Amino acid sequence: MQNTLLITGGAGFIGSALVRLLIKNTDYLIVNIDKLTYAGNLDSLREVKHNARHVFKHLDICDKDAISAIFRQYQPQGIIHLAAESHVDRSIIGSAEFIQTNIIGTYTLLECAREYYANLVNKTGFKFVHVSTDEVFGSLENSGFFNETTSYDPRSPYSASKASSDLLARAWFHTYNLPIIVTNCTNNYGPYHFPEKLIPLVINNALQLKNLPIYGKGNNIRDWLYVDDHVQGLWLAFKAGRVGESYCIGGHNERTNIEVVETICQILDGLKPRADGKSYTQLITYVTDRAGHDYRYAMDPTKIQTELGWAPIESFDTGIRKTVQWYLDNQDWVRNIFDVHTRKVV
Ligand code: NAD
Repeated sequence: MQNTLLITGGAGFIGSALVRLLIKNTDYLIVNIDKLTYAGNLDSLREVKHNARHVFKHLDICDKDAISAIFRQYQPQGIIHLAAESHVDRSIIGSAEFIQTNIIGTYTLLECAREYYANLVNKTGFKFVHVSTDEVFGSLENSGFFNETTSYDPRSPYSASKASSDLLARAWFHTYNLPIIVTNCTNNYGPYHFPEKLIPLVINNALQLKNLPIYGKGNNIRDWLYVDDHVQGLWLAFKAGRVGESYCIGGHNERTNIEVVETICQILDGLKPRADGKSYTQLITYVTDRAGHDYRYAMDPTKIQTELGWAPIESFDTGIRKTVQWYLDNQDWVRNIFDVHTRKVV
């Protein structure tokens, strides 16, 4: 029988990286469920477009009948759930979609999976991997790390909606024995990232000689992970993770926002020098800080490293250079995402 896995949000940044990895490195049939919001883009799946093991389903995870029908039709051995509204700034301007997709959508998937799992004859190996973020843990001061025992303390509508969905997933494990695994990862970066998030926004603005906006003084610290290292962790969690557990994923790459932006500028100064001879750093502009801006995120990934043998391949220095080069080489992808819909970058 064909091994089959459902992926939700597989036309997004991280989901598309996971689909590409699984098509390349496994024999699974991948059923990719995505609503194609402004952040979903079939062009991010162009490498697997003609592969018979990739089936795309244009669906909303809140549509219970349609999702249940997918479970019945494809009889998957598991699901890795990434579909979400994912941008903190958008959640501050309007939280309704975040509540709907991140909480109601996750609840709907859990219910569909529960019903399917209850009737599954061979339950061995079935897993529901719920993909979440380090932002559920709140904000750190200058020392310390988040780990699997850190209390939840979300501060933004986005992180509160993700925290809610994590708790629902855990409850479905304890109450219904649904084999759940929760992962909490740090900030991702890499190819196919919608240019509203810091790194692709800065690369893209710099290439257009637009201002590079930095919140506050640029001192907020994020722990950056190259997207391919994250999806490798998700695959390990699916294959070898213990059900009922959570795994924190991060590569010890803490950088202040201003360090990140200056690094990108220096790489671009080398790879694509400005015609006027100036450095891209001269485009840096400090703007009013984000409301409730968490100061620092940093992860201790010891559990996934020791239990599942996960280790990131990219350091920040190698990953950011690859990312800048990818955007230089793939300006058609950037142009397309703005052409396809009336997508608004906030
Ligand atoms: P993204 O915004 O790039 O992609 C989200 C995808 O979900 C899009 O393709 C979108 O079309 C789809 N989607 C949204 N609502 C949907 C719905 N109702 N039904 C079906 N599909 C829907 O997000 P991302 O950065 O790839 O993040 C993926 C997941 O990983 C999210 O759950 C996010 O919380 C989590 N995460 C992200 C990061 C990060 O740094 N980006 C870090 C840790 C965890």
